[in-house]
Amino acid sequence: MERKKDILETNKTWGVVLMEPIFLKPVLQEKVWGGNKLYTEYGLELPKDAKTDAIGEAWCISAHPHGVSTVISPSQYKGIGLDELYQKEPQLFGKNETDGRFPLLTKILDAKENLSVQVHPDDTYAQEHEGELGKTECWYIMSAEPNAKIIYGHHAKTPEEFLDKVNQKDWKNLLVEVPVKAGDFFYVPHGTIHAIGEGIVILETQQNSDTTYRVYDYDRVDDKGNARDLHIQQSIDVTQFPDKKPELNTRIKEYPKATVTTYVDNHFFKVEKWEVNDELECQLGQNYYLATVISGQGELNFGDAVYPLHTADSFILPYGVKNVRFTGKLELIVSNTPL
Ligand code: ZN
Repeated sequence: MERKKDILETNKTWGVVLMEPIFLKPVLQEKVWGGNKLYTEYGLELPKDAKTDAIGEAWCISAHPHGVSTVISPSQYKGIGLDELYQKEPQLFGKNETDGRFPLLTKILDAKENLSVQVHPDDTYAQEHEGELGKTECWYIMSAEPNAKIIYGHHAKTPEEFLDKVNQKDWKNLLVEVPVKAGDFFYVPHGTIHAIGEGIVILETQQNSDTTYRVYDYDRVDDKGNARDLHIQQSIDVTQFPDKKPELNTRIKEYPKATVTTYVDNHFFKVEKWEVNDELECQLGQNYYLATVISGQGELNFGDAVYPLHTADSFILPYGVKNVRFTGKLELIVSNTPL
């Protein structure tokens, strides 16, 4: 039997770089805390045989081996994984040759229930213990039910006090709860204790890593009666003591019919919200851009081509694309990493 991959191999031409937006198909992931909004409200395609009531994450722009998004268009690259595209067409990403792993991962998460209380390592610790990148992440709250909250930080002054409170299951005095609403943004650097609470949908931009150390999982078990692993020692190793809230230096730029908000701009990533109220004309910098539509619909105009955009569409504007124009009523989260 002919393998699908072999057919694709014969159809593409590497090295002929197309200056076109690259639309991607997300990978939906089952999670014990997930719900059904990603396919009922956001219209993402449910994988065959997936549980319909436990879809926690859509990995919208991902080259991570645990879930690689594939190209929808242009047709030259249709069906190719983002990991392979990054290796074979480095020019699209402003590079002459491949330099290992794609830097970022963007997801939409639907938390029907609370996510585990967790923390992620920095690059050095992750490299040494997990052989991958560390994880600094950030969240844009797309929707939140009334009284929704997150865990964002902790009250322990020392690792010893932290361990004490964990052993006593004194979560109330250990964890910092913060109420949230749609439109809020949170920067979650490595070393920050955090958890997304039930009833929240977020767009997450993060380093391309899947290393999570769990502190507390609400004593949950899966349908086979198994609890998920906890990683108390690793959590204490990587958590910052005392907890420190990162300062956000949000910049807002008003255009006649659009607003661009820059939330974070550091060596991990730059993350912005592009809010189109009729029209936004962008002059792009010397970089490539990852974009996901978080609400509304409209069009992306590029040269003579027009691409319709709907909520939850994800695409990459490759390096070398200079001018694009958005029309309609749209919000996008747009990110990249310094080249
Ligand atoms: Zn996390």
